[in-house]
Amino acid sequence: MRIAMIGTGYVGLVSGTCFSEFGIQVVCVDKDARKIDLLRQNVMPIYEPGLDELVAANVEADRLSFTTDLKTAVAEADAVFIAVGTPSRRGDGHADLSYVYAAAEEIADALNGYTVIVTKSTVPVGTGDEVERIIRARRPDAEFDVVSNPEFLREGSAINDFLRPDRVVIGTESERARKVMKQLYRVLYLIETPIVFTSRRTSELIKYAGNTFLATKISFINEIADLCEKVGADVHDVARGIGLDGRIGKKFLHPGPGYGGSCFPKDTLALVQTARDFNSPLSIIEQVIAVNDRRKKSMAERVVAACGGSVSGKTIAVLGLTFKPNTDDMRDSPAIDIVAGLVEAGATVRAFDPEGMGEAKALLPSQVIYCDDAYATMPGAECLVIVTEWNEFRAIDLDRIKTLLAAPRIVDLRNVYEPTEMHELGFEYRCIGRG
Ligand code: NAD
Repeated sequence: MRIAMIGTGYVGLVSGTCFSEFGIQVVCVDKDARKIDLLRQNVMPIYEPGLDELVAANVEADRLSFTTDLKTAVAEADAVFIAVGTPSRRGDGHADLSYVYAAAEEIADALNGYTVIVTKSTVPVGTGDEVERIIRARRPDAEFDVVSNPEFLREGSAINDFLRPDRVVIGTESERARKVMKQLYRVLYLIETPIVFTSRRTSELIKYAGNTFLATKISFINEIADLCEKVGADVHDVARGIGLDGRIGKKFLHPGPGYGGSCFPKDTLALVQTARDFNSPLSIIEQVIAVNDRRKKSMAERVVAACGGSVSGKTIAVLGLTFKPNTDDMRDSPAIDIVAGLVEAGATVRAFDPEGMGEAKALLPSQVIYCDDAYATMPGAECLVIVTEWNEFRAIDLDRIKTLLAAPRIVDLRNVYEPTEMHELGFEYRCIGRG
C-alpha cells in the first residue's frame, strides 16, 4: 500500500508518520518548500513529543519521505489523504474550504488508476460530495472514491492518540474504498480498535459533534467553577463527584481560562454555521461559544482584581502562552486575550513559554518582554499568572519565587497548586473555582 499525505502540518505529519510506522509506504507532501527541506534534515517544523525519533526511524527504514511534488506522489498512491488546514473563514465563521478544494483540483489532475481520496481535514457535512464533484468534473475518466476519515488526535499526545485511538471513523458508501481503508488500518484492527463504518456525511458530522461536545463540557465546568467561587464550594470535588458517574465521565471537567487551540474555537463556530444553513439551530453550542469568548476576555480582569484594581505601571509575570502544554501551537490560545488585556490595562508583561514564544511573537502585543526561563519573568512583578500548565511550572521553586516577586501574589488559571498549601507558604493565591 502507498499513501500520499497532502498537507504536512500537525495532522498530516503525525498521521503520515504513524501510517509509515504501520508498515505502509508514505509520501508527505506540502507546498511549503521550507517545511519539506527541514523535514528532509529531520528538523521538525512543529513541537510534538517523540515525533523526531519516529520520523527518523521510518525515513531510515525507507517507508517515509517528504516532497513538494504532489503530482508524482498522487500518481503512485493507492490512497491520497487531504490533511490541509480548514480555518475559520473571516467574517462568518464558516470553515474555509479553499485549501481542501484547491488540493482536490491538484489531486484530480494527477490521478492514475483506482485511488481512494480521503478527507482527514475537519470538513463540514457535504464537503466530500463537493470534492467528488470537483474531481469528477476535471477527470471524468478517473476511477476513484472519496472517503471521510476524520482525525481525533490531540496535540501534545498526538502519536499515542494515532497509534492507540479510542476509535477510527470511516465514512464511505463504496465497498471497494472500504476494503482499502480496512487494509490501511489493519494494524489497529489487530489490536481490536473499534472502527465505526458509516456514511460519508455522518462521518463528517461525527467529528464536529465530538469537538462541540467536548467544548460544551469545558464551558459547563467553567461556569460551575464560577458558581463554586460565589458559594464557597470546590470545583475539583464537584468534578470528581459528578465525573465518577459513568454517564458523565471524569475527563474534560477541568476548569480553566477557556478553551483555545486550532480546533475547538473554529469547529464550534463552523458547526453553528452549518446548522444555521440547514435551519436547525444549535442554541446550546451558540451559548458554549459565547461563554468561552467572555471567559477568555475576563481572565485579565481577574489579574487586575488580584492586584488591587489596577495593573497600570505594574509588571506582571506570565508563565505559559500556548493553548495547552506540550505543543508550540498558539492558535486561539487564551493567552492572546489575557496578555492583550493586561497590556491594554497598562501592565508590563514579562512572559515565558517552553516552546510557544516563536509563534507568540506574531500574535501578542509587541510590548511583551520574552524571557529565557520561568524565573526571569518574575523580578519586580506584582503578580505571577499561570496561563498554561507545563510540567516545569508544577515543579517550580516556590521559595525562590517569593524572593523574586515584588509581592507574593499568584493567579493560577490552571489550578496547578493546592490553595491551602499556598496560603500556608504565605502566598496571596487565587485559582479557579476553589471556594
Ligand atoms: P496545519 O495548518 O498545521 O497544516 C496544514 C498544512 O497543509 C500546511 O503545512 C500547508 O502548507 C499545507 N497545505 C495547504 N494546502 C496544500 C496543498 N494544496 N498542497 C500541499 N500542502 C498544502 O493544519 P493542522 O493543524 O494539521 O490541521 C489540518 C486539518 O486537520 C484541519 O482541518 C484541522 O481542523 C484538522 N485537525 C487538526 C487537529 C490538530 O490538533 N491540529 C486535530 C484533528 C483534526
